[in-house]
Amino acid sequence: MSSVQETLRAAIRNIPDYPKPGVMFRDITTLLGNPQAFRRAIDELVHPFAGTKIDKIAGIEARGFILGGAMAHQMSAGFIPIRKKGKLPHDTVRIAYSLEYGVDEMEMHRDAVQPGEKVILVDDLIATGGTAEGATKLLRQMGAEIVAACFVIDLPELGGRKKLEDLGVKVQTLIEFE
Ligand code: AMP
Repeated sequence: MSSVQETLRAAIRNIPDYPKPGVMFRDITTLLGNPQAFRRAIDELVHPFAGTKIDKIAGIEARGFILGGAMAHQMSAGFIPIRKKGKLPHDTVRIAYSLEYGVDEMEMHRDAVQPGEKVILVDDLIATGGTAEGATKLLRQMGAEIVAACFVIDLPELGGRKKLEDLGVKVQTLIEFE
């Protein structure tokens, strides 16, 4: 493991049985609160796209907003919030997506992306991939070209990366947990 990965891994707090028994919650608030680790994470997330023109970063509520805002600033790109239903004030497009148990809906503003714009999707963690799959479909429905989907953490056993790759999305993750 590289020292960057070790730094990031050490900065993440692991909370057993949250939000329910059997789940190991990977809490990035400790990473965000650590100036070196936060900067390294953002540097690593944007590094593969140096020299590539990216129009917008789409962040998934809520932790994807924090990472995506910092990435957008560093890449001189715009930012698109993808939110849980009912939170956005203007005309929206909505999609249902699958959760571990059941379904929910997410939205973005209809005018948040123009056809052909190059977009990077970001969230803190990919597990089953249901959330990122929903966001991918929503962005593509509005004509976005998804250059990549980026996550600090991958839980490979849950198959999310494969789900996105099967949709033709390039996936970039920084560290893995079992
Ligand atoms: P999924 O749709 O299954 O890929 O779940 C990804 C979403 O749920 C992301 O927004 C994550 O922040 C959150 N999530 C799922 N599992 C965990 C976990 N073990 N620790 C922290 N966040 C998680």
